[in-house]
Order: sequence, then C-alpha cells, then structure tokens
Amino acid sequence: MREGYRLRKATLPDSGASRWVVIDERGDLHRAASAWLAFLANVGKSPNTVRSYGAKIAWYLTWTAQTSDWRRVTVGHIAMWQHTLLTEPFLTSSGAPSPRSKATVRLWITAVRAFYEWADAEGLVENDLVSRLTQVKYFAPGTPAGGEFGTRRRVLADELRLRDDRDADPEWINDADARTRLETVTLRCRDRLLVDLLYFTGIRAGEALSLFRSDLHMGGGSRDIGCHVVDPHFHVRVGNPVENDARAKGAERIIYASPHLVERYVDYLLERDRLLRGDDHSPHVFVNTYSRDHRRGQAMTYAGVRKLIIRCGERIGFPLRGPHILRHTFATRLVRGIDCDPQPLDVVQTLLGHRSITSTRVYTHDLEAAKKMALAALAPRAASLAVLP
Ligand SMILES: [Zn+2]
Repeated sequence: MREGYRLRKATLPDSGASRWVVIDERGDLHRAASAWLAFLANVGKSPNTVRSYGAKIAWYLTWTAQTSDWRRVTVGHIAMWQHTLLTEPFLTSSGAPSPRSKATVRLWITAVRAFYEWADAEGLVENDLVSRLTQVKYFAPGTPAGGEFGTRRRVLADELRLRDDRDADPEWINDADARTRLETVTLRCRDRLLVDLLYFTGIRAGEALSLFRSDLHMGGGSRDIGCHVVDPHFHVRVGNPVENDARAKGAERIIYASPHLVERYVDYLLERDRLLRGDDHSPHVFVNTYSRDHRRGQAMTYAGVRKLIIRCGERIGFPLRGPHILRHTFATRLVRGIDCDPQPLDVVQTLLGHRSITSTRVYTHDLEAAKKMALAALAPRAASLAVLP
C-alpha cells in the first residue's frame, strides 16, 4: 500500500506550543522530517517557511516511499523527482491543473537539499548523496558569473540543473529603450568616458583600467611617439606597469576612436585638470577624480568601475551587474546586427581581443531557440502507421 505523508500542526502536551510535524497515514510521526522542521523553527525560520518546507518534504517522502528508502537515494532519484515536479501538473486552488514553473521547482529542490544537508549532519543519511548534490564550478573571467578574475562556486550537480537554467538577469542590454537611457543619462565626464569606452568599443574593464594616457592617440599617431596610425585611436596593451592590479588579458590591439569618443576624452581631461590641479601624477587614464581622501588621483580599481556600472543600471532601470554586460552588449549588437548591419565574426573577434573565434561565436544567437526553429522547419507530413501483426 502506498504510504502517504502529510504535514500536520501538533500541539506539544507540556508547553501547549504548536509545531509542524510530518505523519504517515496511520498518524505515526516521520521522526527525521519532524525533527528537521523543529530544527528550522528553533533556528528562527519563519512559521510560513517551516510550513512551506514541511509540505514539500512530505510530498517528497510520499513520492520516494513508492520506490526507495529516503536514506539511500541517489542524485538520479532526486533528478527524477524534479522531472516529476516539472511534468506533472498540480491542481490549483480553483481546481485547474497547472504546470509548475522552473522557479517553483527550484524552491522544491532547495527544500529537499536543506533537509538532506541537515539529515547528513545528524548522521541519518546512509550514503554520500549530500556531497554529490553539488559540485564546484569554475566561472571564467569576463563571463557574467566570473567577473574580472574568474571565480569558483558551489552549484547544483549537473543532473539537477534545469535546462536553460540561467540567472534571471539578461546577459546583455536587450532593451532598446534601456540602451538609449544608458547613452543619454547624465554622468560626470570621467564616468561618461568610461561607460562609452566600454559600451562603444567593447574593451574589458581590466583593459580600460590598464590604459595609460600615452596609449591614447586621439590626434592620430606621429613620428615622435613612434606610431604611424593616422586616425584617432588607442592601444590596448598588456604590459603596462599598472598601479591598480588591473589586468589586460587577451590580445594587444588598436581600437579606432569615433569623434564622439575623442570629444568625451577631451571633456574628461578638462575635468580631471580642474579637479586634481597639481595632484595629478598617475599615468593611468582612469583615476579617482571625485574622492577627497588619500585615493584622490590614484588609479581607479575594478571595484570602483563595478560600483559605477551598477549605479548606472539603477538609474536607467535595467539590471547591470558589472562592466562585462557592456562588453556583451557591444558584441551581441555587432554580431546579430542590432541597430547596425551584422558584422563579420572575425572582425568582432579582433575587436574583442579574443584569441579563439569560439569565444566570439557565443554572441551569434540564442542557440536553443535556433535549434527548435531549425527542427520545426522540417516538420513531417501526417503519416499513417501500419500496425504489425
Ligand atoms: Zn598609436
């Protein structure tokens, strides 16, 4: 017979306090689940959270009891349960069947994972499930999750990651109005130059922070400075002796500067001269011009750029989690031809300083959507099937 677990509110006989427990069909306590709910209440989780976790764990234990002992399940078992949650519609309060969203299913997995982590610490789990539920993943520098230098983080095991399970924030500014607001929002001269440099040339924040004034040839090159490039441009260099720990990675390259950028740079030089006066000794293009403390005149840091970009996002009403979103926006627009004609991939690769074109290819299109459309384009005709004897 199928064992069904339910969440019930019980009143403690001695104190009269009430707490959530999980019971089976005969009214017997599921000791582990009930102890976990007591633990959650004791560490200060809100009654609503405890009730919501309790309902999920009761449902999970009921489903599990049909085939397995909850103390010995595998990650594959949890993945199957996740699949069930996604595919089996549940009845809403109005009685209509409705599928669960991925966000909802993620909450269910969070509850079950929390239960197992607690149970494992209590010595109740009989295998290494808990260590297998997550894995350490490396996020490369320059990706939205990786930031400037790359990072390692613990994430759900591959089997439990939902397809297209990306963070809700977009990876590029995919809203034309938001782009217009970013281009026109009022900023101080240094910040406008920095935003425009990242947004219109796609260089990395680390590359912008490594730029020296001597790398900017906004009047074109000349024999004196050993540069023969005639048009306004700047040099992205790797070996500058920086003062801010910034790292220019990728390929050294020349980026041409539009008249707009040249103007922004001139505005900034005037502002910088006015604000720093005699205290201007840094070779860096981007220095702290607005601070009044010891940092004044020093090279800007990555943290400073990040803060600026996040603040811009707040002002334009579009989430900008860091400077790399400007680089992603630049690349996506050029490759897909958004507000312009599509540009050849190898040209964009050179602009971005990618060593491999594979890195540039990620901007081409939404691959999953394109795959679906490609398969749908070859839709089969209706066929009648012969039934074999
Ligand atoms: Zn030059």
